[in-house]
Amino acid sequence: MKLSKDQQKKITEKLSKYDKSTCPICGNDGSWKFSDVIFEICEYQRDSSLIGGERVLPVIPLTCDRCGHTQFLNALILGIVEQPIKKEVEDEC
Ligand SMILES: [Zn+2]
Repeated sequence: MKLSKDQQKKITEKLSKYDKSTCPICGNDGSWKFSDVIFEICEYQRDSSLIGGERVLPVIPLTCDRCGHTQFLNALILGIVEQPIKKEVEDEC
């Protein structure tokens, strides 16, 4: 899901409250960019006939400008999205 301009502004404001962190891979000093798209991580299902899980975690990738190391921000905790509604089978990942 593409982030709206308001959602992007909200993320920028929230992240500006924190000190910039150093990249653990390359040591780049705080040059991170967040994605303008929300992704989701689906619950692992041991039975491969099940497609996806009932629980998903909406995340916003945060990527180091220098080496590409990527971390995920929880979009629920950031207040960017609300808890996902239970999805239909054809929508699951
Ligand atoms: Zn890096």
